[in-house]
Order: sequence, then C-alpha cells, then structure tokens
Amino acid sequence: MSPGAAIPTVRRLARAAAAAGLAASALGPAARAAETPAPRQVAIRCGRLIDVKSPGAVENAVVLVEGDRIKQVGPGLAIPATAQVVDLGRFTCLPGLIDNHTHILLQGDITAAEYDEQLLKQSIPYRTIQATMAARTALMNGFTTMRDLETEGAMYADVDVKTAINRGVIPGPRLFVATRALAPTGMYPLSGYSWELRVPEGVQIVDGADGARRAVREQVKYGADWIKYYSDRRYFMRDGALHSWANFTDEEAAALVGEAHRLGRKVAAHAMGREGIESALRAGADTIEHGYGLDEEMMDVMIRQGAYWCPTIFVGAYVAEGRAAAGAPIWKTMVDVAREAFGKAVRKGVKISYGTDAGGYAWTESQARELSYMVRYGMTPMQAIQSATSVAAALLDQQQNLGALEAGRFADVIAVAGDPLRDIAELERVRFVMKGGEIVKQP
Ligand SMILES: [Zn+2]
Repeated sequence: MSPGAAIPTVRRLARAAAAAGLAASALGPAARAAETPAPRQVAIRCGRLIDVKSPGAVENAVVLVEGDRIKQVGPGLAIPATAQVVDLGRFTCLPGLIDNHTHILLQGDITAAEYDEQLLKQSIPYRTIQATMAARTALMNGFTTMRDLETEGAMYADVDVKTAINRGVIPGPRLFVATRALAPTGMYPLSGYSWELRVPEGVQIVDGADGARRAVREQVKYGADWIKYYSDRRYFMRDGALHSWANFTDEEAAALVGEAHRLGRKVAAHAMGREGIESALRAGADTIEHGYGLDEEMMDVMIRQGAYWCPTIFVGAYVAEGRAAAGAPIWKTMVDVAREAFGKAVRKGVKISYGTDAGGYAWTESQARELSYMVRYGMTPMQAIQSATSVAAALLDQQQNLGALEAGRFADVIAVAGDPLRDIAELERVRFVMKGGEIVKQP
C-alpha cells in the first residue's frame, strides 16, 4: 500500500481544492480543519462501546471526534461546550466494519451463466454504475473499508469508483483495490465458447515469469493497491482432503509475488485446495482467499510466514446448492471441509480476516452474515468482531488508521441497537454510520 493512496490527507484535499478553485469547506471536515484554527468537534455518547482493544464492552462512553479523526475515547469524558453532541445512549458503538474480500463490479454469480451474462451483455460503464450502488449499500450497512479483490473483466473501473468516493462524488467505503487479477491462458472464465469468437476475459491473462512481472507493473501503474491472482482451479476430494490444480508454475508465481513486493504491493491468492494453497505460500502470497482445503500443515506455514486467511464461509454455503444443481456437487462437500478447517485455524491461532466475497452473491444480501457463520464455526463474538475490525486493519497495514475506536485513528464509527457480544446478528442491522468524522446514517 503506497502511503496515502487510499486515504485522502488534509493536505491533498486542500491542494485539490485550490487546484479546482473550490472553497476547502466544500470538501468536508478534513479540509475545513486545514483552513480554520478551531476544528469541528463531534461528541458521540454511546450507551455501550466496544473499542475492540479492551476485552469487553464499556458502559456510557464518549467518542470525541475532531475533524476526521478520533481525539479521545472512554467513559466519563468531558464534552467540550462547542462540540456537536450525537446521542446514541440506547446504542452500542463499534469501529466501522472492514470487509477484505469484495467484488463491487459483480452482482452475484452463483452459476457460470450469471457470470457470463454480466461480462457479455453489460458494458463496463453500466457495471460501474451498479458498482457505485454496491459501494453505497456497503457503507450504509456499516462497512467503512473494503479491499475489493478484482473487477472480473471490468478492467480498472474499481480505481475510478475509489477516486469518486475519495473526492466525495459518491458515498462509499475507503477502498483498497486489486484491479484485474491474474491467471494463465485457459484457466479462468469466460470459457466454453467457440474458438471463432473473441469473448471478454474475467482476468488479465499472463504466461511466463516475464509476463507476470509486466502485468504486475501495468496494474500498479493504473492504480492497483493490491495484486490478486488465481492460484488454483478444478477442485476435487481425495482421501478426505480438498485438492486442486495449481494454475502457475513455481517460477511464474514467484515472479508475480516478487515483483508485487518489490513495488510495495501485497498479494492476495485465490487458493481453494491443498495444491493451490501450497503453491501460493511457496511463492510468498500475503493472504489466502477462501482456502477451504487448509490443513494443519499449511496452517503452520501460514503462522510461520505471517499470512492471513480470508475464509469467505457464507458465500460457499450460499452458492453450494445452485452450483450442485448445475452439476458441481463438490461445492456442497466444500462447505463441510471449510467448517472443519475454520475450527482448527481458530484453535491454532491463524490470523483470520473478515472477507465475504460480496458480489459473488447479490449485494442485497447482508454483508454481515459471515459473522454469524464465524461464531457458529468456533469464534467468540468478540473474535468475529475483531476479525472484521482490528485484524482486518492489520492485514491492510492500516492499524494506525483503522480498525479500533482509539485516539488518533480515523473516526469510522458504527452503532447497533442491541448487544453484538450476545447476538452477533445485531451487526446485520447497523443503525448509525460515521466515516472519517462525517455522519452518513442516523437512527
Ligand atoms: Zn472473490
């Protein structure tokens, strides 16, 4: 992540305002803070507060926000007379949620037909308009940050959505984007069409170590914060374990990951089965996406290398019936395999980050459903909340800015009516959202 690439700084906003001939006040509290000596303060009174650093919740706490950052947090804080007071005395406040695996440019693809339809019949401008709605939906549901893991054929449109959000053109979460993703020839949809037709590709096709390096450079040039690649395909069970075919040779995967790291970008590897996970970890990938076939040996490698797991449990269960009906019963088996792997990984202490694959299912489904699965599969509610806040922020190298209600971090605050430590499903009903000191949703 390049410094400040995803998060607008006061100076950049002020500079942009000057360049555009605008008053800085048109650009929100951050820019206003730059031009006036007394920055705007907002005091949020919380009936209950989960800062995610303390072991539990505290009662009657205040979050004091100055500009776009948190100035102070805690019970019994003195509220400055000039501060705007937001009364959430009947609510529980938490840090804004972070989803580290989304596809804003996809509107559900349970079957291959649904995927192909979007790439063949919808223009990239149309898909981008839909992506702006996905971004808005996510923010209103309490997701103030997302790592969007590839555009599925929509080129660099994710960079444009991110730019529009950062400039205040549209509402949306802070985005970290992966642009096009990478796979070798013949190993990613669209497939199955006549060789006489030129059909769109869901990824950037790369072959050979030099091809992989060139593609990484191109994606970074056009705005990729992360590099995403498909490490495997063709999932099957053998001897009770989930296996797959690795897509890249070791030489190609090492070149891809090495070049990304050399350019200061981290790498997310889609890896379902043992072979794909092993290949990705050998290459030095930073995060394993899905990873349903993770076994204890691979978990130990992840712990040793400091790699994160984004398990995306809900989407697997959600698409299983449809994909089984379409002739791929392996998806139903993978639900059981994933449940078992998740329990083991929690006990072992693998770093598990929240990631939903939203877009793989429709954005009208709650993006917070994954939390209930995590609790059902072995996490405490607090662990599940941390996976979607502090752990997810650490995956993004943003622990100074995001992921906790703590002085100095961005004022990304949400609130729910009940107690999510008792019922995690409360987070499917977010009632208040503040992003960077701006209130975007109120009870
Ligand atoms: Zn995905």
